Amino acid sequence: MSQSYVVLARKYRPQRLTELVGQESLVKTLQKCIQNNTIPHAFLLHGIRGVGKTTTARILAKALNCESPIDGFDPCGKCASCKAVDKESHLDVIEMDAASRTSVDDIREIIDGAHYKAVMGRYKIYIIDEVHMLSKSAFNAFLKTLEEPPLHVKFIFATTELHKIPETILSRCMRFDLKRIPDDALKNHLITVCDKEKVSYDDPGLQVIVRCAGGSVRDALSLMNQAIAMHGNVTYEGLKDLLGLADVMALWDLLIFLCKGDPEKTLKAQREMVEKGADPLLVLEDLLDLIYRLACLKSSPSLIHDAQWLKDEKKKAQEFVEIHSMGVLMRLWQVLLKGYDDVKLSPLPKPTVEMLLLQLCYMSSIPTPSELLNNPKSGSLPTGKSAFSTPSLIHESSHKNAPPTELKKNTVPLPHSLIDIVQALTQSKELILLSHLEHDAHFVSLEQKTLLLHIKESAPSDFKKKLETVLSHYYGDTFYIKNVSENPKTLTLAEKRAQEKKEKEEKALNSPVVKQLKEMLDVSNIEVIH
Ligand SMILES: [Zn+2]
Repeated sequence: MSQSYVVLARKYRPQRLTELVGQESLVKTLQKCIQNNTIPHAFLLHGIRGVGKTTTARILAKALNCESPIDGFDPCGKCASCKAVDKESHLDVIEMDAASRTSVDDIREIIDGAHYKAVMGRYKIYIIDEVHMLSKSAFNAFLKTLEEPPLHVKFIFATTELHKIPETILSRCMRFDLKRIPDDALKNHLITVCDKEKVSYDDPGLQVIVRCAGGSVRDALSLMNQAIAMHGNVTYEGLKDLLGLADVMALWDLLIFLCKGDPEKTLKAQREMVEKGADPLLVLEDLLDLIYRLACLKSSPSLIHDAQWLKDEKKKAQEFVEIHSMGVLMRLWQVLLKGYDDVKLSPLPKPTVEMLLLQLCYMSSIPTPSELLNNPKSGSLPTGKSAFSTPSLIHESSHKNAPPTELKKNTVPLPHSLIDIVQALTQSKELILLSHLEHDAHFVSLEQKTLLLHIKESAPSDFKKKLETVLSHYYGDTFYIKNVSENPKTLTLAEKRAQEKKEKEEKALNSPVVKQLKEMLDVSNIEVIH
């Protein structure tokens, strides 16, 4: 069964101009040329690889010689001429690959042959693929024929590299730029092929193919071939194996841990992906791609309907861009992109990737300039560890009229620790209050709905009252704050965080990876740079 799939790209190669996927304007122009009999001597088809240049050239050759074209321009596919082109046995349609035949002699052969009339059809047609590969003298030899070609001769050139073709040649051709096939058109095409082949598929699977194919039908179909040969279907799970892709959801976890500034979970997530077969460098690429798409989504929310988002990702993506600012995305992008280059050059890619991720984690505990402006005290941040989630953003994230589900009255469980209180204040957008809680209060105890604190004199006079009001509202019941006069000598949240950060840094600096790096680089000191 798998054998029949090997030829998918061939089997579903378009046979008519009107079957070309996503090249409407090209088809329209060619149609006019043929119908009005204003056919140029030479065509130049330009486009990225796999976009259908050779296919288009063959269809065009068929159209020019077809005995009974449909609607006067589209090859019928049934006449002797069309059939001969399909079988590559048409005496007047000569195909040549300039990549392998670049010499003047090869061109002379063509030029000499061009003087003889067509045998089977109206025109003698030369299809020259990768025409930019011709040598300079070969181009020169061509030029004369192109200037005054015999009436029965047509040239169809195809190239991926337009800039390598001399201006003198370009100016004598009718040029067509074959567009990259739009994602939606490509996806629809894949669905059609799956249906015809009676192969099962899932949406995320098709989207992965579309994403990888980069606008090339051929690449998309050959990827689909491989998936079918290996798994008998086109599903995300199968493609993940095939491509060594990091699981999309695992990638999301990684991003979220990064943004939360959790080095332990970040490393764990990264290592799990690598253990499951993902290439560390590909993980970075995927992460960069994800951040890029999130930045686009942040700028233009309607992009959520883009074919690139998997069904399961959509909600996460929308939430992410709601919470995080463009500044955060830019910062992630810059550091990752720079790090990506370092990883490519590194003799130790795996540790370099991990160090890069750790760097991002630690970086996340530093507020951005705008955060500092919005909240001058935010040397420590309201969400606990994270800095990629920021005060100004949390403002954007929840609306009083439409609170997130956690905020619904009576469904919120009572707090078990001070962290829960921090969460409550963050959710309630009470960032100034939170900042005071972090800097001006020592925790004593928490029981049910009563929080005992030692409140410093630096706190505003209405701090206790405000905190009570907000927490009562949040937990949907009266909440009590008691101010204990005696200092319990515990650290404030801000102090604690600073200490934890220092410890984490020390731990990272003492890790085996860093020690190894120190030895390799022969340096005595490595600093954590934020
Ligand atoms: Zn025909």
